[in-house]
Amino acid sequence: MSDTLTGVYPGTFDPVTNGHMDIVARAATVVGRLIVGVASNAGKDPLFSLEQRVALMEGEVSALPKDQAARISVQSFDHLLVDFAVAHDASVIIRGLRAVSDFEYEFQMAAMNSRLNGSVETVFLMASDKYQFISSRFVKEIGRLGGDVGHFVSDAVKQKLEQSF
Ligand code: ADP
Repeated sequence: MSDTLTGVYPGTFDPVTNGHMDIVARAATVVGRLIVGVASNAGKDPLFSLEQRVALMEGEVSALPKDQAARISVQSFDHLLVDFAVAHDASVIIRGLRAVSDFEYEFQMAAMNSRLNGSVETVFLMASDKYQFISSRFVKEIGRLGGDVGHFVSDAVKQKLEQSF
């Protein structure tokens, strides 16, 4: 781990899944300080409000081991990701990569961000086998259809999902 490195892990987190938290925990072993950036992403028409997504993420982070949680903060943002990273002295953007489905989008985003600010590097963590197939989109779909989302999200998130349908 590099104590001096600050990383930003951005996402919509609508809602946060076990897959996201796997990346958060692993990212925290790579950087000394991790900022989870919850994007307002109004264009994506999220199910949960920005405040709800931040609160859910804060709940998940507080459930991590204390020494790890102490180095992680959760912030919302609604401006350019590279500007958000710079504003927090972060030199690394961390993204999770699932199989091939994420590649093209992530590749383009990393290239555009690098063009916008060459001093912020994007680092990809491969999704773990166990969480490879989890996506917020399918979790919402399964929840909406009355399926058990307990395999994919925490109890707190499951409860919130149940309330929202
Ligand atoms: P965005 O709208 O920015 O893609 P998401 O909340 O969908 O936000 O995802 C945030 C990041 O987490 C992305 O890099 C995405 O590829 C990654 N991610 C999502 N689900 C998983 C998972 N199950 N395992 C690993 N990474 C994931």
